[in-house]
Amino acid sequence: MIDLNFEDFELVYKEDRTEIKNKDKILDELKHVIGDKNVSILKSDILAYTRDSSLISLNWTIQGKIAGLPEIITWPEDSNHISEILKIANREKIPIVPFAEGSGVVGGAIPIKGGIIIDLKRFNKIIEINDQNLTVTVQAGMNGMNLERYLNSKGYTGGHIPQSLYTSSVGGWIAHRAAGQFSTKYGKIEDIVLGMEVVLPNGEMIKFDPIARAATGPQLDKYFIGSEGTLGIVTQATLKIWPYPEKRTLISYAFPTIEDALDAVRLTLRKQVNPAVVRIYDADETARHFEHIEKATDRVMTVFVCEGITELVDLEEKITREKCEEKSGIDCGEEPVKHWFETRFKVTETSMFPPYKIVADTIEVSIMWDKAADLYHSVIESTSQVEGNLLITAHVSHFYPNGAGFYFTFGGVPGKGKTEFDFYKECWNATIKAVLDVGGSIAHHHGIGVNRSHWMEREWGNGYKVMKQFKEVLDPNNILNPGKIYTPTWKGGDE
Ligand SMILES: Cc1cc2nc3c(=O)[nH]c(=O)nc-3n(C[C@H](O)[C@H](O)[C@H](O)COP(=O)(O)OP(=O)(O)OC[C@H]3O[C@@H](n4cnc5c(N)ncnc54)[C@H](O)[C@@H]3O)c2cc1C
Repeated sequence: MIDLNFEDFELVYKEDRTEIKNKDKILDELKHVIGDKNVSILKSDILAYTRDSSLISLNWTIQGKIAGLPEIITWPEDSNHISEILKIANREKIPIVPFAEGSGVVGGAIPIKGGIIIDLKRFNKIIEINDQNLTVTVQAGMNGMNLERYLNSKGYTGGHIPQSLYTSSVGGWIAHRAAGQFSTKYGKIEDIVLGMEVVLPNGEMIKFDPIARAATGPQLDKYFIGSEGTLGIVTQATLKIWPYPEKRTLISYAFPTIEDALDAVRLTLRKQVNPAVVRIYDADETARHFEHIEKATDRVMTVFVCEGITELVDLEEKITREKCEEKSGIDCGEEPVKHWFETRFKVTETSMFPPYKIVADTIEVSIMWDKAADLYHSVIESTSQVEGNLLITAHVSHFYPNGAGFYFTFGGVPGKGKTEFDFYKECWNATIKAVLDVGGSIAHHHGIGVNRSHWMEREWGNGYKVMKQFKEVLDPNNILNPGKIYTPTWKGGDE
């Protein structure tokens, strides 16, 4: 048994952290309302909730640093338990952080103000599949892979397959407005959620019944999608499902430039063809992932998966190929797509860097078509100028008739006198500033967390003030996930 002493570790997020007053009394009360076995102050349990999966936290762990330090861990079993915990926290003004699988990568689940963790893992039941409505209702802590496997066994797909499928939950997807690898056909999670149950900061519950469409005033349920655990805790959701695809066709083309590849995809979507998977890799990423494909040397690899009923898939294939050839694409066959399928959940690439003191991360953003190529070149140009930057590459993996989602990867070492965190923030800020200058959105599917909150004012303008007012109405004591979205936690980075 390791004897952990948290004082021996440097705490990264310590500003405004509050200790729980009357902790013994609060502990007793929590045990009384949700049961002894569902509450812990064991140091080993606390350690497990000190970080999320943001890559810089791996650098910190190696250096013996802790990102955030909670004081009490809870594992509620039902919505009433969550309601009771929130009533206590609201009365005592104790920070609460909802925590699902910790796969978030922007610090969303880091308890930067301390407080109580509400772990959602016991909310792991599938409630029902409705075949006529094509929906599944699940508890929010449901693991993604378990859900998809269950749906597949019944002849359906959920259509939402993020790279973190094995390590993320339905509630986490909703909280961060997640996107799966098959999003070009099935949509992002906000297109997939039809109903929800949410517990508010004061412990009250709201149920949004699934409905195909409604015209009953502004749709309040939508406001909780992407709220990152700051407005309420999602306990249950009804999601769209689809019959398992009858046919899958694998297509790949290598293009002379990223502009050609973007054009080919744009023109394909303009024909109202939506391949489920579309991924454009810039020349550097093509060299990294497809070095074994000779025809792709010095080119921009693009992979497509069309799926659904046979007749439509065949037509989608025909149109996709026509558009790729129009833009000088060279047919590379099925092999690159098979390679993608085999490696699509492999996540070791970036996590290999921190042990070598290299700081790396990924940043996803979005843009309309007319600025897409500008955004790419502008981010590559500005982020490569950060002192110590060794790598900045991109792929484009989510597409819409009107625009696309880009995914940048950076890596490097801090310049002289700089910390790893300084370098990390500089690369983040250079990327985000370039995106805003070109007219893009600062986040496509990972959310805000701590990494982006200081850019929210520029992203939203006056709307940010309204967002803060809404938060104050729902959570006047600011107990739910404080320090996220509405507070510029990384100060001084937005010049
Ligand atoms: C290797 C890797 C690959 C990834 N690939 C993708 C990808 O392809 N697409 C994508 O979109 N993301 C991806 N991510 C990011 C991450 O998986 C998502 O953000 C995911 O949606 C988080 O889910 P989680 O259950 O792990 O949530 P957590 O990390 O535990 O929590 C994330 C945030 O949601 C809040 N939260 C969690 N559950 C609830 C709830 N029930 N109610 C209210 N708030 C809640 C937390 O407070 C926190 O703010 C990837 C991450 C990694 C590490």
